[in-house]
Amino acid sequence: MWKYLSKSLLGASVAASVAFSFNANAEPLAKDLFGSKNLPAAIEPASHGFYSKGCFSGGLAMAKDGPHWQAMRLSRNRRWGHPELIKVLTRLSEDANRDGWNGLLVGDLSQPRGGPMLTGHASHQIGLDADIWLTPMPNRRFTDAERENVSAISMLKNGTLYVDDRKWTKAHEALLRNAASYGNVERLLVHPGIKKKLCDTVTGDRSWLRKVRPYWGHHYHVHIRIGCPADSPNCKPQSPPPRGTGCDQSLAWWFTDEPWKPAPKDKPQKPRARDVMTMAALPNACRIVLGAPAPASEAAVTVDRPGIIPANAARATAVERFDPSEVLRRLSSGEVPIPSPRP
Ligand SMILES: [Zn+2]
Repeated sequence: MWKYLSKSLLGASVAASVAFSFNANAEPLAKDLFGSKNLPAAIEPASHGFYSKGCFSGGLAMAKDGPHWQAMRLSRNRRWGHPELIKVLTRLSEDANRDGWNGLLVGDLSQPRGGPMLTGHASHQIGLDADIWLTPMPNRRFTDAERENVSAISMLKNGTLYVDDRKWTKAHEALLRNAASYGNVERLLVHPGIKKKLCDTVTGDRSWLRKVRPYWGHHYHVHIRIGCPADSPNCKPQSPPPRGTGCDQSLAWWFTDEPWKPAPKDKPQKPRARDVMTMAALPNACRIVLGAPAPASEAAVTVDRPGIIPANAARATAVERFDPSEVLRRLSSGEVPIPSPRP
């Protein structure tokens, strides 16, 4: 990969020395490198870095169709996650179905090897984030075209910050309660109006509300974030949510003008992180993740029913070409391949 890049740049410099000198300092952007990978890194599962600055290996895909889920926006190829995340989602699909939710409509997880994306999300980079629609799966299978075009339904009353009671159901509450009940789920991001609805209506055990965090957007979908898996010493955890249910002044703030004020026009806009992020900004291990071989096929690393997690699928498919213990040795010694210097 790096060899190829430096060779092609050499070619470019000979062919167009003026253009090349202009671009001499341009490192390739991490979003372009990760955005061009169609399959995961077939090495041991591990998340590297932080939710908004990292990558991951050993990824598995949510199948297009499971017994109680359908994946949406297939063309984006963002159905990939760390095996722990895939376990959570398949389990949630079962629990949700039992509690009156027909099944999950699965939105974006991560790119096959994570990393910054060409469009959308700032986070979702280390295989531990997933967007689940707040619209239940219908009783039939969507066509591929529908999966691109069908819109999720906002839970809000038009033009307000409050949930529309004609749309909100006990099954919505059960979906969120089930997700929050799993030990490794650390945060559920929802619109402040949804958090308020839960604060106003949940009875009995309310401790799980601590995990439900108000955030901009998220009135069509809930963002599920799990904690750093045990296999990922390189993963940087997020600090835990403040104690208590969060049904307090911190929630009241969202119903003031302040969070919704437009940014002052005269202030220069900072470029988005993904538009400047090069490999140098990511953990060193992400170079290995980027350069690692792919599994033999997408099917070998796709999960199509709960309980059947091909935990060693990635390793099994690549073992002939790649020795994971070698990778781990290099990671622990801090010795990682460095791209060859530019000509
Ligand atoms: Zn999200």
